[in-house]
Amino acid sequence: MKGKLDPSVRQALVEEGKNLKETLIGLEEDLVELTDKLQLEAQSIPNATHPDVPVGSEESSVVRKEVGSQRSFNFTIKDHLQLGKELDLFDFDAAAEVSGSKFYYLKNEAVLLEMALINWAISEVSKKGFTPLITPEIVRSSVVEKCGFQPRAQNTQVYSIENSDQCLIGTAEIPVGGIHMDSILLDSALPLKYVAYSHCFRTEAGAAGAATRGLYRVHQFSKVEMFIFCRPEESDKWHEELITIEEDLYASLGLHFKTLDMATGDLGAPAYRKFDIEAWMPGLERYGEISSASNCTDYQSRRLGIRYRPTPSEPPPANAKKGKAAGGPTQFVHTLNATAVAVPRLIVCILENFQQDDGSIVIPEPLRPFMGGLEVLSPKS
Ligand code: AMP
Repeated sequence: MKGKLDPSVRQALVEEGKNLKETLIGLEEDLVELTDKLQLEAQSIPNATHPDVPVGSEESSVVRKEVGSQRSFNFTIKDHLQLGKELDLFDFDAAAEVSGSKFYYLKNEAVLLEMALINWAISEVSKKGFTPLITPEIVRSSVVEKCGFQPRAQNTQVYSIENSDQCLIGTAEIPVGGIHMDSILLDSALPLKYVAYSHCFRTEAGAAGAATRGLYRVHQFSKVEMFIFCRPEESDKWHEELITIEEDLYASLGLHFKTLDMATGDLGAPAYRKFDIEAWMPGLERYGEISSASNCTDYQSRRLGIRYRPTPSEPPPANAKKGKAAGGPTQFVHTLNATAVAVPRLIVCILENFQQDDGSIVIPEPLRPFMGGLEVLSPKS
């Protein structure tokens, strides 16, 4: 009969259909896995680099500026751990029991010092037209990835929250970068400048050794971060502005430091150019990085979908179509981020640089109004 198949042919076709379905399910699983791998590989493709960036590993970085000089001491100096112990400023032992290694309690005047550094930095930077923010500290993993960090990579620095699609932030750069996600900014509103306070959480996978002693490298710390969304042609100018703000802040604390133009090998994926500041830490007997200012050009804005519509330089012709008057096509903004104050390393600098022979610490003048006028931390008798 027309339309009826021979039962054996029918059975064979049913079997073939089943097999095809199973193959399809397998292929779909492969596709998900491959798309995931492709995504991870794509995320590791870095930004382009500024033509003036020195080429090579970290050692090829070039000093742009040096401020102050190493203080000479006429007594035997102590490192911040010893000073903190004598002044009862930290408790690493209890923190190790409660949380694990590389955690700490701040105690007594160290609490005032942390809060003074945060308040002082926000107050100074907001005077320059930056909008103060306190950010969420848990964000979606997709936003972390769009900012150029890799929560799913091996040896990741990012703490992921189990059974969720969220992570703890390693820096306020992530929630601030995300604040204008998927939007078209007004040309007239640019640059948008923020100064954000948050805690930062880092696994510090792979970090070990003396360079990580005490407060130098910890899993949780407070940071005040600057962030700018700007027109592409202005990002180099704003990068210079950010590094100048950082240099002015640390010079006013009386620190001795060097500003470096970081070499290609140290840029990380999102940065087109990065200026780091390394300050002298006499107790640790070396310079240590206290801040970093990066121009990420459109690396983050492409992924986060942050555009603006440039205002045309000339008025539209009289016969222009309706709608054109609103401006030309949209473009991606550029993003920049820079540390104002990363608290623990500044506490290391302040204790080690401003120690006196009696074990006391002179508080830098700009911080005193934020510490109730306190001028000196003295050992308790
Ligand atoms: P980054 O966001 O990695 O450029 O770091 C900004 C600043 O945070 C650095 O320049 C350091 O001063 C500080 N920092 C980074 N990682 C740590 C850490 N694990 N512990 C203490 N401070 C840190």
